[in-house]
Formats: sequence, structure tokens, C-alpha cells
Amino acid sequence: MKIAVLKEAALAERRVAATPETVKKFIGLQANVAVEVGAGLAASFADAAYRDAGATLVSRSEALAGADIVLAVQGPDPDSLAGVNAGAWLVAGLNPFGERARLDRYAALGLEALAMEFMPRITRAQSMDILSSQSNLAGYKAVLDAAAEYDRAFPMMMTAAGTVSAAKLFVMGVGVAGLQAIATARRLGAQVSATDVRAATREQILSLGAKPIFVENVKGIEGEGTGGYATEMSDEYKAAQAELVSAHIAKQDIVITTALIPGRPAPRLISDAQIASMKPGGVIVDLAVEQGGNVEGAVAGEIVERHGVKIIGHRNVPSRLATDASALFARNLFNFLSAFWDKEAGRPVLDEEIGNAVRVTQGGKVVHERLLQ
Ligand code: NAD
Repeated sequence: MKIAVLKEAALAERRVAATPETVKKFIGLQANVAVEVGAGLAASFADAAYRDAGATLVSRSEALAGADIVLAVQGPDPDSLAGVNAGAWLVAGLNPFGERARLDRYAALGLEALAMEFMPRITRAQSMDILSSQSNLAGYKAVLDAAAEYDRAFPMMMTAAGTVSAAKLFVMGVGVAGLQAIATARRLGAQVSATDVRAATREQILSLGAKPIFVENVKGIEGEGTGGYATEMSDEYKAAQAELVSAHIAKQDIVITTALIPGRPAPRLISDAQIASMKPGGVIVDLAVEQGGNVEGAVAGEIVERHGVKIIGHRNVPSRLATDASALFARNLFNFLSAFWDKEAGRPVLDEEIGNAVRVTQGGKVVHERLLQ
């Protein structure tokens, strides 16, 4: 059983899919691990540390040759996989909706591609869930990014020269990222409020000491689909939410948006008029900018200014904390593969529930039902 760990090629991707810690654990399962030279450098994992953990450090083509499992953070360019064994597993965050055409090419290479984003939200898969581990870090970093661009302080300060008032920070979308953003902003001393379409988040917002901002008495606002994900809202709900949120946004210094709907463009939560209603010097962080953006005018990869408000649209926010993001991502992959490790076969054998959930290509075809509709 040979596992290949690839160096990421995507722009601004600093993470790596295996760390020396997880390499050692895979070797403990009797696997051979071949790491592409320099794979961990951008995340501060030196080649020597992988070598000390028992991996061989080789070129990309040598890593791929004869590999049974290929680990990556993002789906690699199919052209860069020449020489890979037909039947090998490709285990990565494959962005299956955004990079649909690539999946056909993985299929044509004979790969069995496993999209880690499709990990089901069930208790036993929690430790394998890359969306949670990476969103948590993104929520934390979003608040730090906002603080860095904000020309005032977060906490209230009573000084001899006078009082500095606390920043008012509003989190829109209280999933994993939003919860961590609330917790981080509270630690920095901001006055925090938050909203979501899922009614269940109300208690979670309160438990973190923040103020819930919720549309009441509008039909169809429960907003929870399968697996805890949000569903698309009714027009009636959207109108009521926009009105409530408009009044609230006008009073905020900082807004962090994290709202996503799987397989669809991110919902638009903040209009240009709402941005204009904020005080000059305000800051908005759009964590959904790469999925189409929650904020009108947000630009992926840029900080733009509109009406005196800065709109931060950093790409790939987890990669901005590359070391911790890699460590958690790598553990997610190890937890996944080791949970299914069949000692006799000397390789992982997936069960039906999780296998069918994550497998997107097999036998030369795209096989996932969510991608065939
Ligand atoms: P997500 O990244 O898909 O979306 C972020 C948040 O945006 C969600 O809370 C969503 O409800 C919200 N949202 C969507 N449209 C919105 C709108 N128009 N206005 C305001 N908010 C909107 O979500 P996520 O962070 O992955 O988490 C969703 C839920 O799933 C959470 O309750 C989380 O705890 C749960 N979860 C469970 C597991 C597990 O059991 N294994 C793993 C991960 C997450």
C-alpha cells in the first residue's frame, strides 16, 4: 500500500494534506508514504521532518507511480497526474460542484475520487470532516482580518484620555465559521450579535454571550435541510430578513458573513445600499466570496472600499493559517482512512454509508447522485 502526498499547485494554497504526524501514523498501519519534495514547506513542515517520520521524499511523478492512494488538499490538475495507477484513490477537497469538469477527467484516468466535502454530517464522521475543521479556523481568522483593517479598537477602554467604545460586530451565518467568529470577537471585547436562517442557532448564539437577531413570525423560517445544512429560503422570509438586518447593519462597525448553501451560489445578504448605511471606517469580511459572495461588490482576493467601508474578500482563508489548517486537514484524512483500515487487506475498505457519500468517480464514470441530477 503506497500513499502519495502531493505538493499543492493552486494559487495561494499553502496547506498540505499530510503532516509528519499523520505520515508516521500511516506508516504505523504498514503503509509506505511518498511525499513530493517541498510539499509541506509553505505550511512550515520541512522535508526533513517528513523523512524523520519515515516518508520518502521524491518528485511528483515518482510519488504518483504505483500509488494506491493520493492525498491532496485541493483537487489536482488532471494533467499533473500522469502515470497514476488506474483504480488509485484520490482523496482531497475536490470542490465537486465548482470543478465538475475535472471529475470527468479523474474518471477518465481511472481514479476513484473521494470528495471529502461530501462527508456526511453524522457523529462518527465528525473527526473526518474537513469543512468543519477548516471553517472553524476561517471564522477565527476572519475576525483577526477585520481587526487588522479596522482603524479603531475592539474592546471598550476607559483611559485617562477618555473612553473608547466597544466595536459592534455582527455575524451573519452561524455555522462552524460563524460560531468561531462570535467566540473570537467576544474574546477581543467586541459587542457581538448574530443571525442565521436556522432557528437552532439562536440558543448557540446566546450561549456564546452574543445577541441573536432573528426574523419572527414568518412562515418557513426553520431553514434547516438535511444534515444540518441550510436550505434556500422563501421570498417572504428573504424580504423580512432583509428589512430586519438592514436596520441592524446600519448600526454596526464590523460585519462578518459566512452564509453558504451547498451546491448553490452563496445567498446575497448585504446590498450596496446597506453598505452605504454603515459608518465610514466600517469593515465587512465576506467569507463566502469564492462561492459568489454574500456581499454586493465583494471581490475575491481583494480588499475593496465602498462608501468608506472596507470589504475584505480574501480567498482560501484557512490557507492563511496554513500550519494549523494543514494539521487538522491531515488528521481528518487520517481519521477517515484509518477508521476503515482493513488489516488483512492492508488498505482501507469503505462501508456503504460513507463510501457512497464521498465517492464521486468509479469505474471510469462520475457516480455521485448529487452530481448526476
Ligand atoms: P455552512 O458552511 O453550510 O453555512 C454557514 C451558515 O450559513 C449556516 O449556519 C447556514 O444556516 C447559514 N446560512 C445559509 N443561508 C443563510 C442566510 N440566507 N442568512 C443567514 N444565514 C444563512 O454551515 P456549516 O458551518 O457547515 O454548519 C451547518 C450546521 O451543521 C451547524 O449546525 C454545524 O454544527 C452542523 N455540522 C454538523 C457536523 C456533524 O455532525 N458531523 C459537521 C459539521 C457541521
